[in-house]
Amino acid sequence: QARKRFGQNFLHDPGVIERIVRAINPKPEDALVEIGPGLGAITEEILTVNPRLQVVELDRDLIPVLRTKFFNYPEFRIHEADALTFDFSQLMEGTPLRIIGNLPYNISTPLIFHLLEQAGVVKDMHFMLQKEVVQRLAAVPGDRHYGRLGIMAQYFCKVQPLFEVGPGAFKPAPKVDSAIVRLVPHDRLPHPAKDLRTLQTVVRTAFNARRKTLRKGLAGLISAEQLRELGIDDGLRPENLGLEEYVRIADFLVDQTSGSGNEGGDD
Ligand code: SAM
Repeated sequence: QARKRFGQNFLHDPGVIERIVRAINPKPEDALVEIGPGLGAITEEILTVNPRLQVVELDRDLIPVLRTKFFNYPEFRIHEADALTFDFSQLMEGTPLRIIGNLPYNISTPLIFHLLEQAGVVKDMHFMLQKEVVQRLAAVPGDRHYGRLGIMAQYFCKVQPLFEVGPGAFKPAPKVDSAIVRLVPHDRLPHPAKDLRTLQTVVRTAFNARRKTLRKGLAGLISAEQLRELGIDDGLRPENLGLEEYVRIADFLVDQTSGSGNEGGDD
């Protein structure tokens, strides 16, 4: 019996499962981690290639099911934990992690933010998500779906939407369409910010006032004149600004703070 509060929609279409595994392309030497294995639909296929797969599952009732099903894989490890607070870096033993998962849709956005912060220990990530979340991850300035999630995902990763999956592939069927996305952390950040928290504050503040001009929406952080000095049209809306420009604003704020003798750097 699938449980709603854990966002459980189990994959049962063998064709879709095979397609996902082919997209992941697991290798025996990979350090693979699956979030939310559920009843093990994807897990089973990965284990045949990589018996050292590790999984993070929150629903304690599923743990014995997984142990029984995969008892003949002695190196298979189950972490009974909440992926939202799990420290993935502890799983890395010299090899960057390949993280996969048909994620619980009710927590997918905070979970992606949590994982992006650990991008330094990650080789790549493959996720099944609500199609709209994949559109948000991949959105560019001017898109209807462009916003905080896409900007922060693209700050850390190359985002590649792969293919869509209809509700019929799951039991119970979700109400929304789904899609598979690949996130590959950049070797070197294309637009590194001087301070990540400041960048996050600027982006969050801007999109909290999505319909306002930057002049109004960012008024608490930066003046219209200062925006223009940075070469940014203060009459634009947040959806028209690219990552590089958000970083420019954030770096300006950092410089200003350090220039005024305030040592407030928090990390
Ligand atoms: N991978 C399975 C499949 O494709 O059939 C199950 C996918 S189901 C959409 C999401 C899974 O994530 C469930 O097994 C659920 O119990 C688990 N889950 C939900 N919240 C979680 C959390 N915070 N941390 C880890 N796992 C979680």
